[in-house]
Amino acid sequence: MPVIFNVEQFRRQFPFFAHNPDWVYLDNAATSQKPQRMLDVLHQFYLEQNSNIHRGAHLLADRATTRFEQARQQIAEFIQAPTAANIVFTSGTTAALNQLAFGLMGTVLQPGDRILLTALEHHANIVSWQLHCQTYGVEIDVVPLTAERQLDLAAYQQLLKRSPKLVSFCHVSNVLGQVLPVQQMVALAQQAGALTVIDGAQGISFQPVDVQHLDCDFYVFSGHKVYGPTGIGVLYGKTTALDLLRPLLGGGEMIKKVAFSGSTYADLPQRLEAGTAAIAEAIALGDVLLWLSQQDRVGMQQHKAELTLYAHQQLAALPQIELLTNASHNAGIITFNVHGEHPSDVATLLNEQCIALRSGQHCAMPLFDSMALQGALRWSLAAYTTQQELDTAIKALTNALELLC
Ligand code: PLP
Repeated sequence: MPVIFNVEQFRRQFPFFAHNPDWVYLDNAATSQKPQRMLDVLHQFYLEQNSNIHRGAHLLADRATTRFEQARQQIAEFIQAPTAANIVFTSGTTAALNQLAFGLMGTVLQPGDRILLTALEHHANIVSWQLHCQTYGVEIDVVPLTAERQLDLAAYQQLLKRSPKLVSFCHVSNVLGQVLPVQQMVALAQQAGALTVIDGAQGISFQPVDVQHLDCDFYVFSGHKVYGPTGIGVLYGKTTALDLLRPLLGGGEMIKKVAFSGSTYADLPQRLEAGTAAIAEAIALGDVLLWLSQQDRVGMQQHKAELTLYAHQQLAALPQIELLTNASHNAGIITFNVHGEHPSDVATLLNEQCIALRSGQHCAMPLFDSMALQGALRWSLAAYTTQQELDTAIKALTNALELLC
């Protein structure tokens, strides 16, 4: 007998819902809610264990350092990284992508080189590269979408023939919910001789990630989208790939010897972690990922898939709705428009009925330009989302449609 994922039991671990009983929270792609256990770890660290790491000459600093490094190990295990030294702490996905762009431009990426992105990318995976492209004379190619709003994999293969030095793409689109065939895309990029970057901001909560199996050079994600705190994220890299990076930040922690005649740098991962880290947040992220790995991840994924299908069916039954997503191969993101209405007007009416969703261009302006759309409404689900919540949201949307249309 298959065990059915117990959504109510899972949901009870998140105190946010008891504090906000009137709200339906459908903005999980922006940030997830936090389990009590994660809040306890954060609180306990500041309450009982607070100390800086790595540099103290006292037991408290040693203990904090041990917990911090244990978190690095927990994160390495969560994504199947070969060693803890392959995990670099950053403040989030955006910071990790900026470190990559800064770190590779002018070293690996030289004038005349090309990099390949996709039309699906979040601004973090576009602008971070653009910031340096002009300075270093690097050109960006973009994989377009098909008419069905899927990434055009044939065009991807064609563009790889231009021999990009680096390919960077999302694991899961934050707008269209599409789960990209990342393993296949990495293999093709490798055959073309490119370094590979996966933006895992949405992928990390979708399914278990095995970076060695994916064989990507880099995988980046934010803690706050996977039940962890804000202000902490991860830059995973193969050792050979991390070795290529010029540090974005200079300062304490990342040096071996400092002299005005020239400084030398610490080994990985500290070489890329200047300054005081978000210590409590890193510890809480390590712990929450351990907790997540102990949950029924298959059941969670299946539950989200069923609800995604349900939401699409309910929305498709409303004639005024234009769905941009489809339920298959989708990570719990439902994006749509109301014919003839501006998304923000619909969002305002839903907000008045306590439905938390996102409207606009979702930090993906080039994607909306390519679809010739001004914006859209997005419902994004998590494993704690219930069918009852979706029914409430549909009812609220029906009310809004009555007022608008
Ligand atoms: N990449 C994708 C696909 C995202 O969805 C997001 C956030 O929504 C980001 C990058 C940026 O994440 P953060 O703001 O946590 O750095």
